[in-house]
Parts: sequence; C-alpha cells; structure tokens
Amino acid sequence: MLVDSIHELHVVNPYAELPSAFYTELSPQPLTRPRLLHANPQAAQLLGLTEDALKSKSFLDVFAGNAPLPGGRTLASVYSGHQFGVWAGQLGDGRAHLLGEIQGPSGNWEVQLKGSGLTPYSRMGDGRAVIRSSVREYLASEAMAGLGIPTTRALAIVVGDDPVRRETIERAAIVTRLSPSFVRFGTFEHFIQQPHYLQQLLDYVVDRYYPHLREPRADGKDVHLSLRLLDEVMLRSAQLVADWQTAGFCHGVMNTDNMSILGLTLDYGPYGFMDTFQIGHICNHTDVHGRYAWNAQPSVMHWNLFRLANTFVALGVEADDLRDTLQGFEQYFLDAFHGNLVKKFGWSSWREGDEVLVDDWWRLLHIQQADFTLSFRRLAHALERPEPWLELFNDPDAAAQWLERYRHRIQEDAGPDEERIAAMLAANPLYVLRNHLAEIAIRAAEQDDPSEIETLLTLLRDPYTERAGYESYAGPAPDWAQGLSVSCSS
Ligand code: AMP
Ligand code: MG
Repeated sequence: MLVDSIHELHVVNPYAELPSAFYTELSPQPLTRPRLLHANPQAAQLLGLTEDALKSKSFLDVFAGNAPLPGGRTLASVYSGHQFGVWAGQLGDGRAHLLGEIQGPSGNWEVQLKGSGLTPYSRMGDGRAVIRSSVREYLASEAMAGLGIPTTRALAIVVGDDPVRRETIERAAIVTRLSPSFVRFGTFEHFIQQPHYLQQLLDYVVDRYYPHLREPRADGKDVHLSLRLLDEVMLRSAQLVADWQTAGFCHGVMNTDNMSILGLTLDYGPYGFMDTFQIGHICNHTDVHGRYAWNAQPSVMHWNLFRLANTFVALGVEADDLRDTLQGFEQYFLDAFHGNLVKKFGWSSWREGDEVLVDDWWRLLHIQQADFTLSFRRLAHALERPEPWLELFNDPDAAAQWLERYRHRIQEDAGPDEERIAAMLAANPLYVLRNHLAEIAIRAAEQDDPSEIETLLTLLRDPYTERAGYESYAGPAPDWAQGLSVSCSS
C-alpha cells in the first residue's frame, strides 16, 4: 500500500537512540529558492510513496532541508577513517543529515540529505554539494541498482540559488539518499579507543542487519560475534568489488570512511565506468599513485577490511583469529569474480584453464583499447556475427584469434546457442553511465532541465534491454568529451 503524503509514512529513529557520542542532533541549512530538479518514483516506492506524493509542497520542504521529516529526529553522525592509506582521525557527516528511518513496504530505509549545510564535522568544508556532484550521485546509484550491484539509492535532487565555490562557482543542490544503514568501516574505527561504544555499535549492526549471526553456528563452534560479522562483511565486500570490476566500474575513493558495513556502494564521488579498457585505469585524477585504480580495488578492499578487523582487538579478540578470518578474503573474491565472469562469458561454470583465456581477454582489451562494455555485450553474438564485435578492436586479427579459442570453450559447454546468447545479453549491459553521458545530464541540469536525467534513468534502470532511438547512449564518448576529468571536488 502506497501513501500520498510523507505525513502518512511510518518513521522510526533507531540511530538517534544510540548514545549521543554517535552523532549530533541539529537542523539542516535550507537552500535559497529551492526547486525540485528530479524525484525518483522507483525509490519513492521503496518508502511507500506514490508518484503524486513527489509533487507536493511538503515533499519539497523536507528534501530541501526546510522542514524535518514528520516523526524523524535529524542528526549528523560521526565516524573516522583512513584516507588514501593514512589515518585521518575524526571525519563524520560534514554536509549530510540523517532525517530518520522509514518503514517501507518491504524493508526499512534511512533517509539522508547530502549537501544540507554545516555540521560539527564539516572541518574546512562549506557543508554544501553542487549540482554536478549531486546529479552524478543520483544517476550512479540508480545505474548500480539497474545493474543489480548493491548500492545506496537516491530519492530526489533539489537545487537552489546558493553559489558554491569549487574550481569555479557552481550552484548548490541537495541529493537525498536512502540506505538500510549508512554505518561505515570508519564508524567502527571511530570508537577504537572506546570499547564500550564499539560493542554497542557491533550489537546495533548485528541485531538490525545480521541477526542470524546470533544463532549457533552450524559447526557448533563458539566464535566471537565480531569475527562472525567480519566474515560476513568480507563476503559481501568481496562480491561488491567483483561486481565493480566486471561492470568496468571504479569507485575512486575507497577510503575506509566510504566503505559500507552492509557491502553497498556508498559515497559516489569521482567514480567512473570505463570506456576503453585499461587495466590500471584511474578514474580520480587526484589519485596520482593509482591507489584506487581498477585492478587495485580487490587488494584495497582487503586492506580496508584489515582496518575494520583491527578495531575488534579492542573487544578482546585475538589478533591471530582476526588474521585467520581475513585470509578468507581472497577465495571469497575469486569465487565472486569467477562467478560473474562465468555469466558474462555465457559459460555454465568456471573450469580449469579459464584463467588463461580470461587473462588473455583482459590483455587483448587493454592492448587494443577496446570498449569495455561493448566488448562484452557484442561477444554474445560474435560467434555467429563476428563483424560488429571485431570492429571494436584496432587489430581484428588478434581479436579473431582469441575468438577462436573462445569458440572452443563454448563448444565444451555445449548448451543451446539461443539460451547462451539470451543469458549473455542479460549479464552484459548495453548502457552504462559513461562520464560523458553524466556530463550531458549535468549541463542540462545546471539550466534547470531534468530531461537528460529522465532519459538516462529510463535506460539505466534496465541497462540490458536495447531500445530503438538511443544508439548514441550505447557508444563511446564523442570527441568533445574525450579526456573529461573528474576530481574529488564535489
Ligand atoms: P568524501 O571524500 O566526500 O567522502 O568526504 C570525506 C569527508 O569530508 C566526510 O567527512 C565529508 O562529510 C567531508 N566533506 C566533504 N565535502 C564537504 C563539504 N563540502 N563540506 C563539509 N564537509 C565535507
Ligand atoms: Mg565519504
């Protein structure tokens, strides 16, 4: 059952019931002359809202930061973290406000404004977000959801007249995000010196999101709750980075304060979906050493999990037990990565020898600077119709040689061709949020025109289905957009 007004939603405040050491209660700073740029009916449905509800004044008031969520307690949460490998100490919601938690038709969602003004955790920042970064976050989270990759969601973008200084003067916006929880690895790190609060955070996260960990283990072993949580977070985080990699996605800022305890993609900044494949692709031009390059993501995730695990020492867990648990990451990652590749290549399972064929695939794409998304997508038909696939490569002869090896591998699996092709088209998207597509939507949004956001959402919600008339959304960047660069500034 959907309701027409945010006044009819069921709102609870479990995070606000944690001790005050976890947050500061305060109001957002509203925007000047706020206008709804776009609202997302799919995300509204998660909360139990109709499309009509999105048009109401009360909706705009709440998501412009002008009025509290009815029944909610507004707060900024505190966390710490490691940024680019270095302990950064206290961070926290420097420009975000949690409004409360809505009990939706099929689960609870915390509702958070981002870009909603100063908090005690703003440090040198201005508490604002710009239209550019808000549109990027809005589109990316819905694109991820469309790909089936775990992510926070986005409900609405409100824009204002307030000028915001970045590299140039831009305009302020507030993007509303939804997540079952915004707890980060960095939230645990924040309480490393306060085991009492750390234990409370552990209990909170387990009770609400991992309640099955309270039950006895199948093998009867008595394992510390934090080790059991670590194992689950490892499993989810391994699947997440595998999903990122096989979508050609780079997060860009895998600091521990941006790592979700639920294994969701969180905090979209200078992320990128690759156009041409480069094994060490760096999407964030401020990441000069490539710490968060495409191929570095699994090992960085592992490193981040070490930082999370390290906090559990404060709960009396033996360092050796933590290290033993952490060793499981590599296998979790390989299983997830191979599982994804099996689907993308149209196989029924991962076999001995696939490693070599797949390594040569990456090498081929890298050397030939082939388009990541289209190379996979067109492979579905490449055995019957090689031309459209071959033309993605600078050296079609080398590509054709690889294709012959792939043909043999497919023959070993021997399923019906139509089934394999359909399965491959359902595992390899045609549309991804390429940087230039986001850029076109941003330029329109800056003129108060949401039409490109609307178009992109339509395509990206179901990126596996080809739509007539949208050919230009399925290809590499045009000349004007070559070399668009994305920085941390948001
Ligand atoms: P991020 O790199 O966006 O994940 O942000 C890292 C930290 O800086 C977080 O604590 C953010 O809340 C904070 N932050 C980023 N931008 C701003 C801003 N414009 N104003 C205040 N705090 C910010
Ligand atoms: Mg962040």
